[in-house]
Amino acid sequence: MIPMVDLKAQYADLREEIEQGFGEVLDSAQFILGPNVQALEAEVADYLCVPHAVSCASGTDALHLALLAAGIGAGDEVITTSFTFIATAEAIRYVGARPVFVDIEPHSFNLDLGQVESAITERTRAILPVHLFGQPVDMPEMQRIASDHGLMIIEDCAQSFGASRGDIMTGGFGIAGCFSFFPSKNLGGYGDGGLVTTGSQSMADEMRVLRNHGSRERYHHHVIGYNSRLDEIQAMIIRAKLKRITGYNDRRRQVAHAYSERLAGLPGLRTPWEDPEGHHVYHQYTLLVDERERLMEALKQAGVASAIYYPIPLHRQDVFREEYANVTLPVTEDTASRCLSLPIYPELTDEQIGTVTEAVIGALKTR
Ligand SMILES: *Cc1c(COP(=O)(O)O)cnc(C)c1O
Repeated sequence: MIPMVDLKAQYADLREEIEQGFGEVLDSAQFILGPNVQALEAEVADYLCVPHAVSCASGTDALHLALLAAGIGAGDEVITTSFTFIATAEAIRYVGARPVFVDIEPHSFNLDLGQVESAITERTRAILPVHLFGQPVDMPEMQRIASDHGLMIIEDCAQSFGASRGDIMTGGFGIAGCFSFFPSKNLGGYGDGGLVTTGSQSMADEMRVLRNHGSRERYHHHVIGYNSRLDEIQAMIIRAKLKRITGYNDRRRQVAHAYSERLAGLPGLRTPWEDPEGHHVYHQYTLLVDERERLMEALKQAGVASAIYYPIPLHRQDVFREEYANVTLPVTEDTASRCLSLPIYPELTDEQIGTVTEAVIGALKTR
C-alpha cells in the first residue's frame, strides 16, 4: 500500500541523528523549554526571515496565543475560511470572537479575496487566512484590504512551512503566523508542537508569558496564562528536520509536478492549480473529481491510499451548523464534495509516482 504519508521511510534517514540527540536530551535531564527549544526558535526565525518565533504546544495553541496577543476577544469578528481544519475556527472561539466564513476560490481553494471586503463589518478586527495545502494566499492583495480597513492579519501557516510569495515566506506577512509541528505536516515532530512568528516584540513577549502560566519570572504570575510549551525532545527532532526542509519541500514539488504532468487532461478530473506568483509546498496534492467514490475504490484496489481533505466544511459541522444555517458558500460546498488528495511526501519514489498515476489513469479509463 502506498500511504498518504510515510514517516517510517523518513525516520530511516534520520535515525542516527535523532537517536544521538535523544540520548543527549535524556542525559541533560532538561525537558521543557531548554536549549533545543531556544535554538529551534532562533533557527526557524532565521529560516523564515522573521524577527521573532515563539514555540508552543500545538498549532491550535499557536492560533490561540496569537489571537490573545493581538487583543482579539468577545464581540469581535474574524474573517476566515470554512474549507480548513476545525482548529482555525476553534481558536477564534477560544478567545470569544466569532468566525465569519467567506467562500473560497475554485482554483486555489484559498479565501476569495473579492468576497472578503463585503464581509467586513464594524466588528471585524482581523482576517485569518489559511495557506491551504501549502499554497500561499495572495498576501499583497490581502494586505491592501487589511490596511484599507484597519484590520490585522493572522496567518494560519500550519500547512505552509517554507511556502512564499515574492521574497516573503508565509508567516512573514501578518502580525502573526501560526505553524504546527504535528507529525504529518511539512515540518513535523514526533508528537504535538507549534510556533508563532511575529514582527512585534511586544506580541512575542506577551506570548512567551502566556504560554508559561502567565509568568515572566519563575513563581511570579502577571496574568492567567496557559501550559503551552514545547519540549526538548520535540525541538531536537524538529531541528534535525529543519536542516532538511528545503530538500523535503523541493521533492514534494517534484512529485506534484510529475503527477500533474501525467494526469493533465483526463476526463472528469482537475489537477491542482499552482499560483505562478507563489512558491507552493504541497502539503497536500488535491484533485477535483466528478466520480470520487469510484476513484477512491479503484485506488484502494490498486494499493494506493487517498483521502478527503475536507469532506465537511466548518459551517456545516454539527458544532456550527445551527449558528451558520443561513450561510451558503457554493464553491466551498462544491469543493468539499469533489476533492480528493493523493499520497505526497518527500520519500515517494519515482516508481511509486508511476504506480499512483497509472492507478488514476486506469480508473478513469474504465468508466
Ligand atoms: C494541523 C492544522 C492546525 C492545527 O495544528 P495542530 O498542531 O494539530 O494543533 C490548524 N490549522 C490547519 C489548517 C491545520 O492543518
